[in-house]
Amino acid sequence: MDVRPICQFPEPVLTRKTLKVTTFDASLPALVEEMIEAMRGANGVGLAANQIGVPLMLCVIEIPEEDVRVFVNPELISHEGERKLYEGCLSVTGYQGLVSRSERVKVRYQDLQGRKHRLTAKDNLLAQALEHEIGHLNGHLYLEHLVARDAIWKLSEGPPPQYAREHTDEPDDDEAPDDGPSTEK
Ligand SMILES: [Zn+2]
Repeated sequence: MDVRPICQFPEPVLTRKTLKVTTFDASLPALVEEMIEAMRGANGVGLAANQIGVPLMLCVIEIPEEDVRVFVNPELISHEGERKLYEGCLSVTGYQGLVSRSERVKVRYQDLQGRKHRLTAKDNLLAQALEHEIGHLNGHLYLEHLVARDAIWKLSEGPPPQYAREHTDEPDDDEAPDDGPSTEK
């Protein structure tokens, strides 16, 4: 099986809201396998189905050192606080920006069997990834969350000083900016 290519901005499938998953049959885990393969192939920590051209409300997230998580029909129920973070996207390759994200997010979602779950994430990469992927599923990109219009730059160049100063490092994230797209989603 070939790895599915990842759609690039501004392909229309990325800016349209996806459709709710209503059928929980064997096609769903098969699609998830393709998504995981595409995400890992691009060294991403998350991928939404519309990033491989499938307009369904479904995403995968794989935080380093943790099991891969699957979210069917995920919805942000509430969010609190604000923090500034570097962010990249597998659909906007070669760029990185400084975005404003929530400190704490609460989501509801279904698993591959259709069972309902809730999850709260706070101050971590999972919280950031959930906002990023749920954004994708609603047709939004991280570009809409930049702290300023010019708070985006080529990954190879790194952030200009005014943004580098504003960044608060997360404990687990001590990679150099030129280490590649490991925090892209
Ligand atoms: Zn993305």
